[in-house]
Amino acid sequence: MRRPVIAGNWKMYKTQKEAADFVRKFLPLVANSTHADIVLAPPFTALSIVVNEAAGSAITIAAQNAYWAAEGAFTGEVSMKMLVDAGCKAVILGHSERRQFFGDTDQTVNRKAKAALEAGLTPIICIGESLSEREGNRTEEVLQCQCEGTLAALTASDFSRILLAYEPVWAIGTGRTATPEMAAAAHKHIRARVAVQFTPERASALRILYGGSVKPDNIKGLMAQVEIDGALVGGASLDPHSFASIVNF
Ligand code: PEP
Repeated sequence: MRRPVIAGNWKMYKTQKEAADFVRKFLPLVANSTHADIVLAPPFTALSIVVNEAAGSAITIAAQNAYWAAEGAFTGEVSMKMLVDAGCKAVILGHSERRQFFGDTDQTVNRKAKAALEAGLTPIICIGESLSEREGNRTEEVLQCQCEGTLAALTASDFSRILLAYEPVWAIGTGRTATPEMAAAAHKHIRARVAVQFTPERASALRILYGGSVKPDNIKGLMAQVEIDGALVGGASLDPHSFASIVNF
């Protein structure tokens, strides 16, 4: 039985004050929610305040990206070690917005994933096909290629520490969600691919989150699929009541 994970990706939203207000309102709403791991991914500037506000709760704080080098002349970048220092336990890598606007590729995500693991962070690695890839019947081929690229040369024990998020690009921020059956079919395919890349046992223990317009009114249907182990939530994670009702699906 895989333990569910519900993760909120705040993207480039919330000042420190807004982030602190969110956590104060959110914590009582999930105080009894022991059925799932809860992850919040604020922007870099709000990481420390969210870590402090969530101290003593079971919430895991994640960053939304980081660079692979430990330190150096890399203006504008943040290292994995810095995330650990700020109190993070996880980091989202390869989100489609990073791939689309900031040049992340399967190869750079792979380097970042290795650096995250080395620093003791849980990488939440995002993969997913574009609309034209889905319409061209290339979804399975694209997912296989992304798994092979982002997870290249990971050891079996590294692999057992990651989370994967299947996020079809056409469903992110569009209000157009994959049906539970579509998402489950993609998860099943991903699990079959990583079983070949690693081992069937490790693949069956891997938690795969679905992301793409997850809302309070569609989470139940998604989580009813045995292949779906959780959700990576963007827009609907910005409001404490909406995100809490997703957590408490
Ligand atoms: C995301 O940011 O990963 C995401 C899935 O966004 P949304 O829920 O808004 O589609």
